Amino acid sequence: MLILQCPYCGVMADESELSAGGEAHLKRFGPGSDDAEFQAYLFQRENPKGVHFERWRHSYGCGKWFHAARNTATLEVYGTYFAQVTEPPAELRKKISAAVPGWRWRDFA
Ligand SMILES: [Zn+2]
Repeated sequence: MLILQCPYCGVMADESELSAGGEAHLKRFGPGSDDAEFQAYLFQRENPKGVHFERWRHSYGCGKWFHAARNTATLEVYGTYFAQVTEPPAELRKKISAAVPGWRWRDFA
């Protein structure tokens, strides 16, 4: 069972208390973007086998959105962090690099 710690209220919440919100750190395209950019924003996701950054909502707790870093192959959770950031905290990236040698941080614009 997936268990994530909500960074807002500190509760260790199992997946029955959480709602998945898809991939984290998407670059959003809106008015003024071309069709290809907007289509990519709407439909293209990384779906990696390995390190992944996701949005989760503590639906049956404090109700807030947060981000989680976990490994889709091993189900290891590296950490959770506030949703109001544009990229994962440096400490978390360092922890992931130690756990997954050769892991490379993608370039979030
Ligand atoms: Zn919470």
